[in-house]
Amino acid sequence: MHYDFVVIGSGPSGRRAAVQAAKYGRSVLVIEKGRRVGGVSVHTGTIPSKTLRETVLNLTGWRERGFYGLGYRVKKDIEVGDLQARLHKTLEHEVEALDHQFARNRVHVLRGQASFVDPHRLSVQTEAGDLRMIEADRIVIAVGTRPLRPAHIPFNGETVVDSDELVELKSLPRSLTVVGAGVIGVEYATIFSALDVRVTLVEPRETFLDFIDRELVEDFIHQLRDRGLGFRLGSKVNSIQFENDQPVAILDGGRRVRSEMLLFAAGRVGATDTLNLSACGLAADDRGRLKVDPETFQTSVPHIYATGDVIGFPSLASMSMEQGRIAAHHACGNPLPSAPSYFPYGIYSVPEISTVGMSEEEVRKTGKPYECGIARLRETSRGHIMGLNGGLLKMIFSIETRRLLGVHIVGEGATELVHIGQAVLNLGGTLDYFIDNTFNYPTLAEAYKIAALDAWNRMTPRRDAEAKVPPSLPAEEVVGND
Ligand SMILES: Cc1cc2nc3c(=O)[nH]c(=O)nc-3n(C[C@H](O)[C@H](O)[C@H](O)COP(=O)(O)OP(=O)(O)OC[C@H]3O[C@@H](n4cnc5c(N)ncnc54)[C@H](O)[C@@H]3O)c2cc1C
Repeated sequence: MHYDFVVIGSGPSGRRAAVQAAKYGRSVLVIEKGRRVGGVSVHTGTIPSKTLRETVLNLTGWRERGFYGLGYRVKKDIEVGDLQARLHKTLEHEVEALDHQFARNRVHVLRGQASFVDPHRLSVQTEAGDLRMIEADRIVIAVGTRPLRPAHIPFNGETVVDSDELVELKSLPRSLTVVGAGVIGVEYATIFSALDVRVTLVEPRETFLDFIDRELVEDFIHQLRDRGLGFRLGSKVNSIQFENDQPVAILDGGRRVRSEMLLFAAGRVGATDTLNLSACGLAADDRGRLKVDPETFQTSVPHIYATGDVIGFPSLASMSMEQGRIAAHHACGNPLPSAPSYFPYGIYSVPEISTVGMSEEEVRKTGKPYECGIARLRETSRGHIMGLNGGLLKMIFSIETRRLLGVHIVGEGATELVHIGQAVLNLGGTLDYFIDNTFNYPTLAEAYKIAALDAWNRMTPRRDAEAKVPPSLPAEEVVGND
C-alpha cells in the first residue's frame, strides 16, 4: 500500500503532522502500536498526570485550605477509585476527539508496530498478527519515549513503579519515595504530598529544575518543606531492598528511605529500538534519540523527519505539536511558518510553576544591566479572595531598553498567567506595557502590574519617581512599593 505521508506514532507531534499533511491534500496514514490513539500524552503522560492533579486538588479541597484551614476536605476518605473515575472519563473524551479529528481529515490509522524495511518502506506487525507492507514518499518518526528502567531497580508494577505504571495505581500508598527530581518526579511528588501522602524526593544532584530561575525554585522548595515534603538532594540510589514487602531505597553513604511505594522517575529513553533504523540509514544515540535539523525536523535522510520527544529537549506536548506541524509544512513543500522566539514551560506541580524567557541567571551571564520586579500573589485582591498564602511572579527587564526579558511564576494559575508575559515578550514589549494597561479587577493577572511597578521603582531614582508617577496611580502606591 502506498501513501504520500506516513507518520509512526499518534502522540501530539504525530497527530499534528498527520492532520497538517492531510489539510494539504496528501494521503496520510498514522501507524500506532498502542491499543488506542493519543500516545504517551493521552494515555500515560500529560493528560493522566494533569487529570490526577486536578482530581486531587478538587477532592482534597486544596485550593480552599488557605481560607478554611489545613483540616478542610471536600471528600474525607479519598480512594484510588475516586482518582481513576475522573481519569478514565477524561481519557475517553480525549481519544474520542482524536478519532474524530483523524476521521474528519481523512487520516487513515493502522494499529500495529512499524519498523523500516528500507528508506521508503515500513513493515507493520498488526495486532491481529498479520504483516502489512507500507510504502511512503515522506515519513515522520514520532515514536516518543518510554520510562528508563535501569537493571538495578526491581520494578514490580505495584510497590516499585515507573511513571507509566503509576497511572494504573491499585491502591493509594501512605508514603512514597520519588527517585528523580526532574519535571515528572517533582509533579508526582507534590501531587501525592497534596493528598497527605508522606513523600520523600531523592535526587543525585544537589540542585534540581536547573532551567528554572533560582529565586523561584527556592520559593518552591520553601513551600514544599513547609508542608512536610522531604528532600534527599545529592543522594544517589545504590539499590532497593524490600523489608516486609516495602521498598527501602539504599542511598550513597548508607542512608535508607523506606516507604510503601517507590516511583522511579529518573529519565526516559527514545522508543526507537524496534524501528530497525539501520534499514533506512539512521542511527539513534545511546538514549534512543534521533538528531534532526532544528528548522525543518529532517533527519540525515531528507525524506524522513523526526518530531516530538524522540528528538529530546524540550520534550513537551506543546512543542511536539508545533514540531509536527512544521515538519508537515516542509514535507509538503510549503514555506515554514515563522516560529516565535519564546515558548513557555509549565510544570504542573502543586504549586505550579511556569516560565518564559530568560532566568535571572541567564540574564546575568549576558553582562547587560537589568532589574527585577516581584509580586506576591497574595498582594492582589483576587489572592485575598482566594485565600492564597503563597505564590510569586517575577519579571526581569533590561535597564537599557526597558524590554521584558523573562517572566517566572510559581503559584496558583501560573501556567495560565504566563501567557500574558509570553505575548509581551514575543512582541518585544517593555515595562511600560504593564504600567500603562488596565487589567481586570480583581484578578491574579494584576500581579503583573504590581511586579512592573516594583521594577519601575527600582529602575527609577526616587526623586525622578515622584516626578514620573504613572498618571493612573497615586504617588505613594508607586514610591512606597519597594
Ligand atoms: C508523566 C508525564 C507528564 C507530562 N506532562 C506534560 C505536561 O504537563 N505538558 C507538556 O507539554 N508535556 C508533558 N509531558 C510530555 C508529553 O507527554 C510529551 O512531550 C509528548 O507526549 C510527546 O509527544 P510525541 O509526539 O513525541 O509522542 P508520544 O506522546 O510519546 O507518543 C508516541 C506514540 O508512538 C507510538 N509508537 C512508538 N513506537 C512505535 C512503533 N514502532 N510503531 C507504531 N507506533 C509506535 C507509541 O505507542 C505512542 O503512542 C509529560 C510526559 C509525562 C511522561
